[in-house]
Amino acid sequence: MHITRRSFLKSTAAVLLGSAVSQPAIARVSFSSDPFKLGIASGSPRSESVVLWTRLAPNPLQGGGLDPQPIKVKWELAGDEAFHNIIKSGEAVAPPQYAHSVHVEAKGLQPARSYWYRFFAGDAVSPVGYTRTAPAPDSLDPFRFTFASCQMYEQGYFTAHRHMAQEDLDLVVFLGDYIYEHSWGHNDVRKHEAHEVYSLDDYRNRYACYKTDADLQQCHSRFPWIVTWDDHEVDNDYARDRAEDLETNFIARRNAAYQAFYEHMPLSESCAPHNGNMRIYQAYDFGRLARFHVLDDRQYRDYQVCPKPGMGGSNVIADCAERNDPKRTILGWQQEEWLKKSLKDSQANWDVIVQQTLMAQVERPGGKFWTDGWDGYPAARRRLLEAVNGRPGRDAIVVGGDVHAYAVCDLKVDFNDKSSPIVASEFCGTSISSEGPSIKQINAWKENNPHIHYANAEARGYVKVVLGKEQADVALRSIESEKVPDSKINTIAQYVVEKGKPGPQKA
Ligand code: FE
Ligand code: CA
Repeated sequence: MHITRRSFLKSTAAVLLGSAVSQPAIARVSFSSDPFKLGIASGSPRSESVVLWTRLAPNPLQGGGLDPQPIKVKWELAGDEAFHNIIKSGEAVAPPQYAHSVHVEAKGLQPARSYWYRFFAGDAVSPVGYTRTAPAPDSLDPFRFTFASCQMYEQGYFTAHRHMAQEDLDLVVFLGDYIYEHSWGHNDVRKHEAHEVYSLDDYRNRYACYKTDADLQQCHSRFPWIVTWDDHEVDNDYARDRAEDLETNFIARRNAAYQAFYEHMPLSESCAPHNGNMRIYQAYDFGRLARFHVLDDRQYRDYQVCPKPGMGGSNVIADCAERNDPKRTILGWQQEEWLKKSLKDSQANWDVIVQQTLMAQVERPGGKFWTDGWDGYPAARRRLLEAVNGRPGRDAIVVGGDVHAYAVCDLKVDFNDKSSPIVASEFCGTSISSEGPSIKQINAWKENNPHIHYANAEARGYVKVVLGKEQADVALRSIESEKVPDSKINTIAQYVVEKGKPGPQKA
């Protein structure tokens, strides 16, 4: 092809001009130190796709340490750990407005397949991560997952994550309190990078503080995760747009917190915040075996009833009439309708309801209830359990966290009526490291609530579930001490749920 000098100059100018107008300048970078200090992650697995995540941050605890320019990141997905067989690869841009995070959705993959992935930026190469796609739509093969929540960094080491990383799993589910926005509790083993967080920079540094933990990084690099959030990703006991202490400007704080959550989680780009909202509730299918309905009980909920004077947030109260108001919602009406439809449309053997907190009623001494959990929204809970009930051939398991205690419960449409049938089985995980309630409190839970089979707030850890066609095997996995980095793991209780027979049974 013959190009005159004049036309070459013209076309070069056009290309340069074009790229200057239509694309941001991509920096050619060399990093002062490793930009992958926050590790890598994968998540939101589907039968044909999985999300790959990283965030470039050579100086993670001080804002990341990069100039505010987009940076090119190459990614590779292989069928083997040595990357001989590269199946997909591509280039993504780490944008400064999302703290140089990368959310790649690798598509066109095979179901129930193991993959390895890594990232390249400048001269730097990330560690290698392992991930796995969801089973094919018709699969009834067994499916193994763990769920966990509440990892207060100051109160304990993430030893539970190190043990989880060694399990044989298809998926990890995290139910919220991934970070804590403020310090509380006793017997700290280490300190946050700063005090309570409010601004976008603050939240980014807080995620960085948690994500520099080697055990947490290892667990992310070993399995795909599905994540939802609870209150501490923003502020203790917040409800929709109201802070616990009724602080002004709370929406600006929530916007910052939501954005930082997106920036640090293996969520697809479709979850990115939009006008201050983030839709994270969604369903995941694991063959015909299970549908996971992942809920968000924070963003759309009505305010907690009967708070302490001059406060928002929760309270422990003897019944107040407002609590039973049928117009109250914890999921918001749109999500409630979505969930009803998602349950109705599901063809799965098991519907797993993935949500933040303990769903079973917990009547406390003196007929009191804690208003931040489902007990503050009993009509909404009843609607949910009625939707779960009465679908022949289908069984529901509810998983939760938040209360920093294991709890194994029967779920009933009416907890106060002994003849009300059991409609689902609930397993509440304890915390990875957050301090639990006292033995006295837990004993009172059990005394007043016959539908609670087991409760234990003394142990930290997670729950492992093996879903089979006819039976779910559930193991409460607990570390000896969250205060000791290399402590061992044990199974402290085991349950089964038989298909067609709602309610956990001791194994
Ligand atoms: Fe918590
Ligand atoms: Ca919580």
